Amino acid sequence: MKKILIIYTGGTIGMVHTENGYAPQEGFMQKELESIPSLRMSGMPAWDLFEMNPLLDSSNMTVREWNQIAEVIAENYDRYDGFVVLHGTDTMAYTASALSFMLENLAKPVVLTGSQIPLCELRSDGRDNMITSLLIAADEKVHEVCLYFGGSLLRGNRATKYSADGLIAFVSPNYPLLAEAGIAIRYNMDALLPKASGELRLQRLADVPIGVIKVFPGIQFSLFESIMTEKLRGIVIETFGAGNIPGDGNALLPIIRRAFDHGTVLTVCSQCPQGAVSLGAYETSGALKRAGAVNGYDLTTEAAVAKLYYLFSTGSEKEQIKRLMEQNLRGEMTIT
Ligand code: ASP
Repeated sequence: MKKILIIYTGGTIGMVHTENGYAPQEGFMQKELESIPSLRMSGMPAWDLFEMNPLLDSSNMTVREWNQIAEVIAENYDRYDGFVVLHGTDTMAYTASALSFMLENLAKPVVLTGSQIPLCELRSDGRDNMITSLLIAADEKVHEVCLYFGGSLLRGNRATKYSADGLIAFVSPNYPLLAEAGIAIRYNMDALLPKASGELRLQRLADVPIGVIKVFPGIQFSLFESIMTEKLRGIVIETFGAGNIPGDGNALLPIIRRAFDHGTVLTVCSQCPQGAVSLGAYETSGALKRAGAVNGYDLTTEAAVAKLYYLFSTGSEKEQIKRLMEQNLRGEMTIT
């Protein structure tokens, strides 16, 4: 019988109503899971629960918690066949992205899931999300970090939260679903990553100062000068369409140049969920290209942020980081 470790980090799935709104409660999840008979039915894998301390609303997740989750997986890697990480939906795509980079040579399933309605409520989507995630984690088809939600299995570093209140809360706009759970769980074998060889290696993340800027019509680039200091190691710019910034690109250029002189790695992503950045395709992205920005292709902002944390944590040189940002490391981007 397969054995799965459920790592409970917090999030709506295990929350209860308090005077101050929904909040996670210690010890509640173990009781709640024991009260769901399906979780011990034949056909289900055996599972143990590991509860993080403190339990968090995922808005409070930091690099420290990513390291803790990854450490629990690495320490228990040989004792379990797969891992289910119960997590809040708000930053689930960031954590999934971070874990995908941190767990080098991963050869077992790590499935992140949660719910929009707490398990303690009648219409909770948490039960199916949990049961199906356990079944996926017990299957030998998946060897990567993925996210199961609302009937779909997505690659973790391709997922993005799409709905604040719908039960299909995540999409993967630039990569096919890894599986769909209808009457049966149908895997898209062509889309799954091959099984890695070699020993699992954990790359812990450092608390690297990075930033994200979203451009908008009328943006005054000079206002951002103050954050583009030598302290800033990496920045993601969410541009229009295929990598375009407002025509006043010349105003941005000296600021970016200075950032580059400081060693900041600037990665260009698109505000469009679907499609990819193509630096230099339009005159309006030329400034970024000339200044040496990294083409983020179809990276989600979540994956770009996690990848910057990861690459800086490896201690690589800036030029190497720039090169690797433009390479596909864990199925997170399609180079066009
Ligand atoms: N605020 C919650 C969280 O991300 C939302 C959720 O879990 O759906 O932890």
